[in-house]
Amino acid sequence: VFAHLVRAPEDPILGVTLAYNKDPSPVKLNLGVGAYRTEEGKPLVLNVVRRVEQQLVNDLARNKEYLPITGVAEFNKLSAQLIFGADSPAIREGRVTTVQCLSGTGSLRVGGEFLAKHYHQRTIYLPQPTWGNHPKVFTLAGLTVKTYRYYAPATRGLDFQGLIEDLGAAPSGSVVLLHACAHNPTGVDPTPEQWEEIRKLIRSKALLPFFDSAYQGFASGSLDKDAQPVRSFVADGGELLMAQSYAKNMGLYGERVGALSIVCKSADVASKVESQLKLVIRPMYSSPPIHGATIVAAVLKDSNLFNEWTIELKGMADRIISMRQQLFDALRARGTPGDWSHIIKQIGMFTFTGLNSEQVSFMTKEYHIYMTSDGRISMAGLSAKTVPHLADAIHAAVTK
Ligand code: PMP
Repeated sequence: VFAHLVRAPEDPILGVTLAYNKDPSPVKLNLGVGAYRTEEGKPLVLNVVRRVEQQLVNDLARNKEYLPITGVAEFNKLSAQLIFGADSPAIREGRVTTVQCLSGTGSLRVGGEFLAKHYHQRTIYLPQPTWGNHPKVFTLAGLTVKTYRYYAPATRGLDFQGLIEDLGAAPSGSVVLLHACAHNPTGVDPTPEQWEEIRKLIRSKALLPFFDSAYQGFASGSLDKDAQPVRSFVADGGELLMAQSYAKNMGLYGERVGALSIVCKSADVASKVESQLKLVIRPMYSSPPIHGATIVAAVLKDSNLFNEWTIELKGMADRIISMRQQLFDALRARGTPGDWSHIIKQIGMFTFTGLNSEQVSFMTKEYHIYMTSDGRISMAGLSAKTVPHLADAIHAAVTK
């Protein structure tokens, strides 16, 4: 009965890893997927996570009963505090409802379905470009996807004018997706002053901000600093949605740990919103998994574990920043034509190199370097050992 199906294309990001896995070359390099790697090129499980897992294994009082639809209550409370601030008035006033979801993607999807069902405006504006999964998540959730200008190829920076014009022209009430920090794929974030203008425009037009926070702590190395733009949107008393992921900042990728928070006008509204979120989640996957959220809650609630986490997180962020410098220096040393300063200016896990798809194919074919065709490279996949190989490949691609 399924013989008529046409083969679907591989996911543009995950497909890069499939191609990489098939390549027998010893010098192959996977800079496609945004997962942290050590200097030795290995996946990293944080020490703090290992320690908590040991404790959980030894705790015989724990069981594997179903969680409530909304997940681990303590995890939800602590997640809201992590992003909005422990002293956030919105939390204190009970205006925030938080539900545990399946990592960032699941949080975006549940938020999208909730909006499609209960919000009067079904259009969501996404930055151009954005994470490749965003348009699909929101379209399948039942929203209409439009874009706003974000990136200026000429400056390899923010198209602030274009952004303001496009959001200024969006119908009142439209939903606007904002990357909380470390924009994927461009690595370009607004300055604090630009954030302030964006916030004022959004509030004056009664647009509804939907933040995607997949990299808190990865942009600057500081959890609080990376949350600053979001906190200013909460401080003004307005409403917003927030999708949080612990994939990158706690290295819990495959555990699928995340949270959706909705900041409302009153505690009464927040509790009604939560009741409706349960109706979205129950028929979708009933309730979320226990393991990852229990780890996160244990780390967030204990000040020693929390401090240990922030140190390990900063270590990851600093290694990425050092990779940026090393790649920039290596290209300069080779006299590679072009201004490569965007490599050190951009923020977070990715560099949007400016290489075109033809140059990317050349680097894959001749140098066994795997990356998405838009020229995005995951800086977290590089090491001092592999920077020269990448710099050789970029040099060859732009001078051929
Ligand atoms: N949003 C952005 C911007 C991302 O880069 C990612 C991960 N690549 C996600 C959301 C979702 O990731 P996850 O579902 O693994 O938390």
